[in-house]
Amino acid sequence: MILLAHVLGNATGLRQGVFSATKSAFLFYQAAQQIMAVELTRKSFTPYAAKKGEEYMNAHQRKHFRKILEALKSELSQEIDRTVHTMQDEATVFADPNDRASQESDMALELRNRDRERKLIKKIDETIARIDANEYGYCESCGVEIGLKRLEARPTATLCIDCKTLDELRERQVAK
Ligand SMILES: [Zn+2]
Repeated sequence: MILLAHVLGNATGLRQGVFSATKSAFLFYQAAQQIMAVELTRKSFTPYAAKKGEEYMNAHQRKHFRKILEALKSELSQEIDRTVHTMQDEATVFADPNDRASQESDMALELRNRDRERKLIKKIDETIARIDANEYGYCESCGVEIGLKRLEARPTATLCIDCKTLDELRERQVAK
């Protein structure tokens, strides 16, 4: 009987092991997907080639950044749809309580990811609103031009690189 319990215990352990491996693979796949989404966005547009003496954040430039932000937003929205479908698919699979526990923590992680993606979409919407209001591309703290290069790398940036660096230094001070 003890032996049987031991074997059963091992079997459960084995099954959990397999499940964890599957879970890690799944999480890895998800992380890769997210990285890919970001890279796709970066690859799918040509950096803005400003003409000599071109006015900063003229209509062409605003259009350029609007396009980048909209592409980013649609990729994130697709990511959220995929997450919802994955959760619906997974919901009926496991009957074992151990598996269910793992599944619940998976879903908690999924929900956190989704929450983060939703916040990012909100930030993108706010950024697009700033483009429309003709306020995009200037540092919220000191008012200087953030610059095309920095904005292409971080389209939702609201601070110039100097203010951002200062901000991070201050945050690190507070953390200590
Ligand atoms: Zn600044």
